[in-house]
Amino acid sequence: MVPTISPILDPFGRPITYLRVSVTDRCDFRCVYCMAENMTFLPKSELLSIEELEVLCRRFMAVGTRKIRLTGGEPLVRRNILTLIRNLGAEVKSGHLDEITITTNGSQLSKMADDLYDAGVRRINVSLDTLNKDKFRAITRWGDLNQVLDGIHAAKTAGLDIKINAVALKGINDNELGDMVAWCGDHDLDMTIIEVMPMGDIGGENRVDQYLPLSEVKTKLSQRFTLQEVDYRTGGPARYMRVAETGRRLGFITPLTHNFCESCNRVRVTCTGMLYMCLGQDDSANLRDALRDGGTEGLDAAIVEAIGRKPKGHDFIIDRDHTDPAVARHMSVTGG
Ligand code: SAM
Ligand code: SF4
Repeated sequence: MVPTISPILDPFGRPITYLRVSVTDRCDFRCVYCMAENMTFLPKSELLSIEELEVLCRRFMAVGTRKIRLTGGEPLVRRNILTLIRNLGAEVKSGHLDEITITTNGSQLSKMADDLYDAGVRRINVSLDTLNKDKFRAITRWGDLNQVLDGIHAAKTAGLDIKINAVALKGINDNELGDMVAWCGDHDLDMTIIEVMPMGDIGGENRVDQYLPLSEVKTKLSQRFTLQEVDYRTGGPARYMRVAETGRRLGFITPLTHNFCESCNRVRVTCTGMLYMCLGQDDSANLRDALRDGGTEGLDAAIVEAIGRKPKGHDFIIDRDHTDPAVARHMSVTGG
């Protein structure tokens, strides 16, 4: 039996047991709500190495982290990422971690799904905002729908549980979300619908034009499906319902219409080792310096000190008076 480490509590008494690591800010897509097409990425010299990322994950585990999600950017395009996944997966197998999960755009799954399963990954989130090939290209700018659908198929065949994440985009996929719920039902996939969040400059795009409140989405879906309340919680921000017709879960992440912060159990580390205690706030701690200057002890102290100032929540607003990003960094920096 592996002894469980008591997690650190933040100032509001929330146990911090979940770490999200953005392993790269780079991506092979350019989704219109996430990045500008001509994004400037960090110089590779600023990134933590795969070994340093692993040390960071292990120090978080030493202060109570039980679940790690790798995200990005596109985590599966980071060179040698499988080494990190395998090493963390070994900790799941030995009981020191409950889970290692990945959020991916699905583009690399056809080649990597079996390796992910062998490494100890059992669940992944795949982002998919539309099932229409042309719309998919318009939203992702560079993506190919068939490549992602093949990837989802490969992941299912490998034995991975998949949840589809779709961002609700006004005038783009709003009329399609019902069909996507049905498609997920046909393919035994859970789904979560996400509101656009005001993070990072996205070039000429306007978030007020993209923003679709999920209250509207839910009302529309209720006309087609029987949405039943369920008690299921993952410790994350989604509120889940069951779609009676398909038997699958449908989650709603509503940072703008319903504040989800009271049950927050997570913090986020970027690929340069910046620790963000809240997705929607700018306060951060430089763990890269702590790691490189202070070794394990300095790093542990920096983690504990930073969690000690985790804020109560975010204050995202999108309306005609608030068109600027609430935080300057892109979702691809902290990984959603
Ligand atoms: N590249 C991977 C992917 O797309 O799944 C992982 C990183 S991506 C930043 C993580 C999630 O954040 C995706 O589901 C994406 O749709 C979502 N996302 C990106 N920018 C967002 C924004 N401004 N508001 C809401 N969700 C966003
Ligand atoms: Fe890349 Fe994911 Fe951002 Fe799309 S949402 S550009 S796939 S990081």
